[in-house]
Amino acid sequence: MGYNVAIDGPAGAGKSTIARAVAGRLGLIYVDTGAMYRAITVFLLRKHVDLSDEKAVAAQCNEADITIRYQGNQQVVILNGENVNPFLRTEEVSRLTSVVSAQSAVREKLRSLQIRLAAESDCIMDGRDIGTCVLPHADVKIYLTASSAVRAKRRYEEQAARGIVCDLKQIQADIEERDYRDMHREVAPLVQASDAVLVDTSEMTIEEVTEHIISLCRR
Ligand code: C5P
Repeated sequence: MGYNVAIDGPAGAGKSTIARAVAGRLGLIYVDTGAMYRAITVFLLRKHVDLSDEKAVAAQCNEADITIRYQGNQQVVILNGENVNPFLRTEEVSRLTSVVSAQSAVREKLRSLQIRLAAESDCIMDGRDIGTCVLPHADVKIYLTASSAVRAKRRYEEQAARGIVCDLKQIQADIEERDYRDMHREVAPLVQASDAVLVDTSEMTIEEVTEHIISLCRR
């Protein structure tokens, strides 16, 4: 096994921003597992599969070949030979990924890919079940969270900076709905691992969180 850092937490807690910053500082590879679940969702949507039909989803999953490549420190998700990064971040994909990710066939497929990536490299991996299911023996485990109001406000400001007009209340409702599904599914629900360090970023800056996690890794 390589040196592995696991970061789990709810939507919009800043996991990817922080994981990317820590990866850069410590020379680790950043593995974004949410992007893999998003890629499977894109695949199923393109195939017009009924996402609530577990058998159909499981059957189609076998047709989806997902691999990861790195361009610089940017993770690129390759779905059946195609770079699908440009299609992963739409509102529809965000919402439906938490429906798709509840299914065990999908989780099993991606978990083995994630375990292999962690074995091959020193990495920081973020997601929902990394410390609990994927890398239960990770060297460092973090549970990163913030209040849903703070997470929604950050997302709103991000969108506003890109010139996208959106509704703060709707963003918060979407985040809470996604969290509820991720926390209450039967397979690998989002939960803080008993040996994970809780980091509540509601009152912290990105730099403070990054420094805190680096100090936990160096300890
Ligand atoms: O992290 P991100 O917001 O991109 O994740 C999108 C969705 O993928 C989550 O809402 C969750 O349903 C699913 N996911 C998961 N397990 C992971 C990573 C993501 O179920 N390890």
